[in-house]
Amino acid sequence: MSDCLFCKIVSRQIPAQIVFEDDLAVVFKDINPQAPTHVLIIPKKHLSSLADSADDDAGLLGHLQLVARRIAKEHGLTKGFRVVTNNGQGAGQSVDHLHYHLLGGRAMTWPPG
Ligand code: AMP
Ligand code: ZN
Repeated sequence: MSDCLFCKIVSRQIPAQIVFEDDLAVVFKDINPQAPTHVLIIPKKHLSSLADSADDDAGLLGHLQLVARRIAKEHGLTKGFRVVTNNGQGAGQSVDHLHYHLLGGRAMTWPPG
């Protein structure tokens, strides 16, 4: 997607603080962090949202969770962490490329706002 912000981060057209990359995924620091650790885990493949994924994406979606586990471990988030995706405008999605927020390093409350 030529006009997608996160696709441009994947292709390095826009700079980001990338902390991890493999064949399927990129992880970079959120530009407006809401916790001491706040990174975004995205598929390299453009999917607008979780709702836009297909059954064939099962492997990719599972992989993104395993990346979250790995990054949480690497960041020492032993006391807990949160992985969340905002799906759609009503949930606060502001960038239409699937991304999972990985947040940690502080106490968290529930329910989220
Ligand atoms: P959401 O509101 O769930 O769609 O999350 C989008 C996230 O992307 C927000 O937390 C933003 O702070 C973050 N964000 C937007 N632009 C950039 C960027 N250029 N680099 C890193 N994070 C960004
Ligand atoms: Zn995209």
